[in-house]
Amino acid sequence: MRCKQTGLIFFPAFDWAISPTHPEREERLLYTRDQIFEEGIIDLPQIAEFTPQLASIHDIARTHFCVPQVESQTTEAHLIAAGAAITLADQIVAGLIDNGFALVRPPGHHAMRVVHGNRGFCNINNEAVMVEYLRSRHGIKKVAIIDTDVHHGDGTQDIFWHDPDVLFISFHQDGRTLYPGTGFIYELGGPCAYARTINIPLPPGTTDDSLLYIVDNLILPVLEEFRPDFVVNSAGQDNHYTDPLGSMRITAQGYARLTEKLRPDLAVLEGGYAIETALPYVNMAIILALAGLDYSNVREPDFWPGRFKETSQRTEQLKRLVDGLLKHWKNRDTTLTGRGKTVNGYYEREKLIFYDTDYIEEHQTEKLRICSNCTGYLSIESEVSHGFGQAGKVLCLSVPFGACSKCRNEAADLYTGAKKSVGYNYIYLQDKSSDYLLGYDTKAGKEWRP
Ligand SMILES: [Zn+2]
Ligand SMILES: [Zn+2]
Repeated sequence: MRCKQTGLIFFPAFDWAISPTHPEREERLLYTRDQIFEEGIIDLPQIAEFTPQLASIHDIARTHFCVPQVESQTTEAHLIAAGAAITLADQIVAGLIDNGFALVRPPGHHAMRVVHGNRGFCNINNEAVMVEYLRSRHGIKKVAIIDTDVHHGDGTQDIFWHDPDVLFISFHQDGRTLYPGTGFIYELGGPCAYARTINIPLPPGTTDDSLLYIVDNLILPVLEEFRPDFVVNSAGQDNHYTDPLGSMRITAQGYARLTEKLRPDLAVLEGGYAIETALPYVNMAIILALAGLDYSNVREPDFWPGRFKETSQRTEQLKRLVDGLLKHWKNRDTTLTGRGKTVNGYYEREKLIFYDTDYIEEHQTEKLRICSNCTGYLSIESEVSHGFGQAGKVLCLSVPFGACSKCRNEAADLYTGAKKSVGYNYIYLQDKSSDYLLGYDTKAGKEWRP
């Protein structure tokens, strides 16, 4: 009989960095790894360490439209980071471990469905790649992703915006005060997936008590009703009170209690940039909580109980926020979201996306085919400007899991028709229902199957 086990993968990615002095660097994981080894955590029978596999190009292309190709947007480090999440997910689904924590970088939650470059330190969305792998290979239907990073998980939100079977909940520091400037309460998902996106923007200075109030009164009740087959935690640690990028007041104990309550199947590391003062404590507390071990002694040297308190006014505001979001959730099946417009059988929205790391500006026209038999396919026209005269336009067609044959055929016909068009540099077809992927270079007249 096996022990109850928590699976870990450490992947510091020594060969990947935005720049040598950038806060997103390998030391983020090295201090944690030292701490875990020194404290003997790795030797406990409840903990098992795994070696990551590489995510395949196909795994990436099932989730993203990388322009022009997956190979141009990824390094081996990206494939290992996403592959680590897949490795642990495989173990969990097979029942070989109870849960897992992929302590990997580069991070992923700012990477959207279409990828022209790096945004918020992310090219590839590790959690999304793993979730689409699970749904494709293991027939898992319903997944919940809880994003606990201080930054809004705008990439994950974008990828699952129209998907009623993936619940995405993100709490984060209010977008008016922090990158990426999104994640407001009115961002609630597409017409077939209303309130399957839930955003909880929080004021700077939010404490453990407020966070746990949200978990108990909003996240857990919603999870209980949604009944996911698999729960993912995008585990960003930049809500910590010493983090140099965020302005929140969450402690290692707060993160541990959060983890204990959420009981994720798999946690995947996102941000967290206080390399010495936060990460070793927060990571250790999360690992102990996942393994069902006592974490009460994990404490930052400069922390004392009662150090951070909310005012009654802030607590009242939080209660109103939670009540308002619960109302949207309760009305999820009777409300049609009103932010886009419906034209000729398509629900349309325009998007402007800025790549802060790579200085790219992208304009998207996203059209969802309204279908009475399935959730409909997506057609995305993406036009990009890299500055200095470099520009281009691509067409991306995405057919969801469980699509009807009419939608599948229509998307395939659009792909074939667009190959003759001179308006696009590249055309992509991503049929998740049959796991069939195609790409086409219009200038070279060359097609490939990722
Ligand atoms: Zn972050
Ligand atoms: Zn359909």
